[in-house]
Amino acid sequence: MRERSVAIIGAGLGGLAAGCYGQLRGLRTTVFEMHDRPGGFCTAWTRKGYTFDGCIHHLAGCLPGTATYRIWEELGAMPREVLFPDDLTQVETPAGAVFTVHTDLDRLEAHMRELAPEDTPLIRRYVRALRTFTRFDIFDAMAGSWRDRAGLAYAAPFGPMSMMRARPMSVPGSEGLQIVGQSVGGAGIPGCAVMGRNAIAALT
Ligand SMILES: Cc1cc2nc3c(=O)[nH]c(=O)nc-3n(C[C@H](O)[C@H](O)[C@H](O)COP(=O)(O)OP(=O)(O)OC[C@H]3O[C@@H](n4cnc5c(N)ncnc54)[C@H](O)[C@@H]3O)c2cc1C
Repeated sequence: MRERSVAIIGAGLGGLAAGCYGQLRGLRTTVFEMHDRPGGFCTAWTRKGYTFDGCIHHLAGCLPGTATYRIWEELGAMPREVLFPDDLTQVETPAGAVFTVHTDLDRLEAHMRELAPEDTPLIRRYVRALRTFTRFDIFDAMAGSWRDRAGLAYAAPFGPMSMMRARPMSVPGSEGLQIVGQSVGGAGIPGCAVMGRNAIAALT
């Protein structure tokens, strides 16, 4: 039988995942990259003795048993030691106010209310929406879990509320709406890996 081959444009995480899944499914895969190194957005470079780590801040899907974790296992990225940090990310405004995205939602709510007490009703609604989303896994939904797809369809009205309709928070010197969006946005690397896998699945 003739070997089937697939050309993949771009050696970002999505293209590399597609290449791996293609080979796992017996296809001959060639990844074409216009840069001098693979990785796309997810790369680092050195200049004058400094390393600039373009990304990443965090990787979703590190919890054993989830559909995304299984993808990391298939791609050879797991198992390995994983650090689950207390703080997801931090933003410092030009005025010097520091906003920390705590992974503990009680702490996050208290911190946000301390930064912007006048936004308490909005913050309450936002954290309530986050709690709703913690019951479902957006990446598992993308990877094919019907339970998570159904759950997210139910939870979806809360998402636009927190990201689009919220007025900017009053953190001094900040773009408040971006801060509100920060902790829920972005399909990121798991999304790319799932799409790479799904693209190959559609061919085979
Ligand atoms: C600062 C920053 C922080 C981030 N933090 C996180 C994080 O914490 N967690 C997370 O999950 N995600 C994070 N992301 C997002 C994540 O890095 C990206 O979603 C992911 O790397 C995108 O992968 P991709 O393969 O879809 O695309 P890309 O990484 O854009 O890869 C596309 C590749 O295709 C190549 N290419 C394009 N056109 C051609 C062509 N015509 N011919 C040949 N090659 C071509 C490009 O050179 C590139 O290498 C972050 C992104 C940034 C920028």
